Amino acid sequence: VQAVFRSNLSHLLDLMGSGKESLIFMKKRTKRLTAQWALAAQRLAQKLGATQRDQKQILVHIGFLTEESGDVFSPRVLKGGPLGEMVQWADILAALYVLGHGLRVTVSLKELQSNLGVPPGRGSCPLTMPLPFDLIYTDYHGLQQMKQHMGLSFKKYRCRIRVIDTFGTEPAYNHEEYATLHGYRTNWGYWNLNPKQFMTMFPHTPDNSFMGFVSEELNETEKQLIKGGKASNMAVVYGKEASIWKLQGKEKFLGILNKYMEIHGTVYYESQRPPEVPAFVKNHGLLPQPEFQQLLRKAKLFIGFGFPYEGPAPLEAIANGCIFLQSRFSPPHSSLNHEFFRGKPTSREVFSQHPYAENFIGKPHVWTVDYNNSEEFEAAIKAIMRTQVDPYLPYEYTCEGMLERIHAYIQHQDFCVAPGPALPGAHTPQSPFVLAPNATHLEWAQNASLAPAAWPPAHSLRAWLATPGRACTDTCLDHGLICEPSFFPFLNSQDAFLKLQVPCDSTESEMNHLYPAFAQPGQECYLQKEPLLFSCAGSNTKYRRLCPCRDFRKGQVALCQGCL
Ligand code: UDP
Repeated sequence: VQAVFRSNLSHLLDLMGSGKESLIFMKKRTKRLTAQWALAAQRLAQKLGATQRDQKQILVHIGFLTEESGDVFSPRVLKGGPLGEMVQWADILAALYVLGHGLRVTVSLKELQSNLGVPPGRGSCPLTMPLPFDLIYTDYHGLQQMKQHMGLSFKKYRCRIRVIDTFGTEPAYNHEEYATLHGYRTNWGYWNLNPKQFMTMFPHTPDNSFMGFVSEELNETEKQLIKGGKASNMAVVYGKEASIWKLQGKEKFLGILNKYMEIHGTVYYESQRPPEVPAFVKNHGLLPQPEFQQLLRKAKLFIGFGFPYEGPAPLEAIANGCIFLQSRFSPPHSSLNHEFFRGKPTSREVFSQHPYAENFIGKPHVWTVDYNNSEEFEAAIKAIMRTQVDPYLPYEYTCEGMLERIHAYIQHQDFCVAPGPALPGAHTPQSPFVLAPNATHLEWAQNASLAPAAWPPAHSLRAWLATPGRACTDTCLDHGLICEPSFFPFLNSQDAFLKLQVPCDSTESEMNHLYPAFAQPGQECYLQKEPLLFSCAGSNTKYRRLCPCRDFRKGQVALCQGCL
């Protein structure tokens, strides 16, 4: 059966169920965005032309909303609790539905069991049953529940699972044996999935797939209207929970801001104003999403205090013509030094509250400064007040961009076929490289005839030898490219080192998430033994890593040019 784009979302709203505050929030959002989704579907349909798309049967099991996992978020929806996850799940559901796939949505263990064909009351199903879904989208909580209740089927069908995982899971933490041996074990487990099965909220770890969410897009008339109606001295503070105002040293920079601007907040409170929020701040209380957007349309500045990390709100602010001001973190926050990241399966270092805003959007929309430096802070405020900006939304966060990306994943990502060998073999072409002039950069030969079904297509590979201590994520970005872990097998050979003119005295093959790599002192070359450990993330001053990079479309970093 072919998938047909849908523009009427009323049946999806029924599928989403009811009762919980979180579901009410999600459904309101979906309803509000219906027209945008419909328009995006039209545009993508035109772009794809006659492309054949199979209709998939998809189960979406939102684990964190189940009572069995404690459902800590639903009761906090109206109290300033996190909403980013709900924004994302609402948009994932909308995208899958608009793309025309068959959908089931479950938010309880009972519904999950009945959809999987597990008899209720029985702990788990001992036999392998045929799975009536081509794809399952879930989260870490849901993954655990499926493992407990699917019995042997779990192992057989895990390749069909996609795990929505806000901050990402790096390969070193995902591989059970390796994580156990080398101290990468976390509470989230080590599931031995293909790292691309984890899907993140922002494109920060190319080892995982970037799922994202959407923000409302304005048409030209709306943009002009907003630009005309901005109050140049109005600032809105990022954060719904009073706790973010406990920040040490805030008096100093808030005092400076207050000299120039009227400061607004949307901090949740029960009966009286939260004591943490200074009296000069005009607090509106937690606003419904559409009213929050209206506030952003009037404001000039959206200011972050350092927490929450990487949420949707700054993108919405920028889309509504605000400038986003945030603090630089020095030293960077990570699982080594910050409670929030502790125990998360990532080694990523976060250099500001919203690295995506800093690195992918930047000035004039995003200003990242040191809040402890009063002069730098004050200069930024003054400059911001003089700066005119247009509302801006990166394509990957529009409805069309998200539809396009999920379409590409569904069309091309198949983790049920066995991955190629880590070591040279079937995947090693006769003459894989074109040597670049400086001999530290290789281009994939255009005529490479191997693995024609590979996705992204192998011709977009550009190989670089990293400098010592540099991760592949950064090395690729240094060259205006993105690391593409699925290309690692092409570089994992003596031949690749040879072509890069790396003088290997000896070559060894081991399990190490930094391999393939070259160690300078002993002139030793190391190959990767375990395909699951190929990792863009990670570095060590001992090694020069061999990095597979690819180009990407501006505003759609998940896709290379010509790989739709
Ligand atoms: N939001 C809202 N009312 C408010 C402030 C924010 O509905 O008063 C919404 C906002 O539109 C955004 C969502 O809350 O889509 C989550 O934003 P945030 O970046 O704060 O992420 P979180 O920490 O909640 O995951």
